[in-house]
Amino acid sequence: MTDLIIVGGGLAGSEAAWQAAQRGLRVRLYEMRPRKMTPAHTTGYLAELVCSNSLGTTLVDRAGGLLKEELRRLGSLLLRLAEESAVPAGSALAVDRTVFAAKVTAALEQHPNITIIHEEVTTIPAGLTIIASGPLTSDALSQALIHLTGQEQLYFFDAIAPIVVAESINMDICFRASRYGRGAQDAGDYINCPMNKAEYDAFVDALVQAERIELRDFERVYLEAGPGVKAGKSRFFEGCLPIEVLARRGREALAYGPLRPVGLIDPRTGQRPYAVVQLRQDNLAGTLYNMVGFQTNLKFGEQRRVFRMIPGLEQAEFARYGQMHRNTFLFAPALLWPTLQFRQREDLFFAGQITGVEGYVGNIATGLLAGWNAARLAQGRAPLVLPPETMLGALLHYITHASEHDFQPMKANFGLLPPLPRRVRDKRARARAYSQRALQALDAFVQALPPEERPAPPP
Ligand SMILES: Cc1cc2nc3c(=O)[nH]c(=O)nc-3n(C[C@H](O)[C@H](O)[C@H](O)COP(=O)(O)OP(=O)(O)OC[C@H]3O[C@@H](n4cnc5c(N)ncnc54)[C@H](O)[C@@H]3O)c2cc1C
Repeated sequence: MTDLIIVGGGLAGSEAAWQAAQRGLRVRLYEMRPRKMTPAHTTGYLAELVCSNSLGTTLVDRAGGLLKEELRRLGSLLLRLAEESAVPAGSALAVDRTVFAAKVTAALEQHPNITIIHEEVTTIPAGLTIIASGPLTSDALSQALIHLTGQEQLYFFDAIAPIVVAESINMDICFRASRYGRGAQDAGDYINCPMNKAEYDAFVDALVQAERIELRDFERVYLEAGPGVKAGKSRFFEGCLPIEVLARRGREALAYGPLRPVGLIDPRTGQRPYAVVQLRQDNLAGTLYNMVGFQTNLKFGEQRRVFRMIPGLEQAEFARYGQMHRNTFLFAPALLWPTLQFRQREDLFFAGQITGVEGYVGNIATGLLAGWNAARLAQGRAPLVLPPETMLGALLHYITHASEHDFQPMKANFGLLPPLPRRVRDKRARARAYSQRALQALDAFVQALPPEERPAPPP
């Protein structure tokens, strides 16, 4: 007898299996490796880390550290095993990846309620199910997902632009306006960073010389074949060219492309700038702005260095850096509830990177909630929605309410949280205030649950 099927034994699927099994469900966990490998994994272990061995900061007044603290309080198995597998890395939690994956595998293999089956799943199972097949979901299952969601709703590639925290933009230099004064707000919908010729030339020079991330072979195949970034949608691939590739086509390519100044007058000079970088609001709270047309494959440090040359962005804080890589993810704003349920089928949950949550710890966190909520549903209780003041609650709110215009995966950052009741100017004090409020909201949420439902730390 099986109560719950989980597809994918990566970070999210492993955490989900543990959470559901601990709550008494009999879980069947399908993991296709080692019989069928993904292009990035190299072992048959559950919860293999495909790239970096770092799970990011442990400082609770940083967004990633706050998310870890929330996971700790919610009784995450994978966080505990990561801490047990830690290697020295200053204030970051870095792990010995083999020890970590082996520990997760052993914990799940030994759990009496979990059966692990090393097989590829090629159809969406009937009955209570969590799909956690990750950014490298197998082709057959991807086809089944297209069938489930419709072709337009499943994405296969990320070509994402950086996101800047609004408070870090210097509005003494930048100005609000929409091209030709068209815009919903009187002040204009975009934040515009004006450049003169010398600034533009220096920026283009730095951009074309900046260091790029090497693409892996399987990523190069996707990029060079140019299949379009969306499954089944013949969007012209040129539209997603990295900005540094476009810049190499000629000195004026950007000034006639994404940085064109037409229809924009800088109110300080009364003139049209030589070029303009536009920033578009990215979340409803207006705390995050994405850099329009700036999808990029530069190394993160290079993005910080080069993009801070843009007038007004000298002190920019990046909530997310631009990236290009293979990534299967759903159009969550139309398909998922913040409980991680599929809107059209309440007994079907999604977890991990496929939901549009980015990063190892965020993926573990969605697995935790999906496993818990699946157990609640099986036991006749309504699935939980976490408070939006918590980092996990805010991430799930973001992916399920994000702009339909250009939804892209998101990782933990303070810009997702509802604004504080009072403005706190100092950046570190503000971060501490966000963290304190998040943990208080989480504790109150947990205390409001019946005692037998409150998360217990893993043994
Ligand atoms: C190349 C690459 C590098 C990344 N590097 C980082 C990084 O350095 N830091 C970071 O924070 N995030 C990184 N990410 C993003 C993300 O955090 C990780 O991919 C993370 O492992 C995702 O967790 P997950 O549980 O959603 O998927 P995964 O951990 O990938 O787990 C999904 C599992 O499902 C299995 N599976 C797939 N299809 C099927 C099927 N049909 N049937 C059965 N099993 C199936 C896979 O074998 C896999 O084990 C990276 C992503 C990629 C693609």
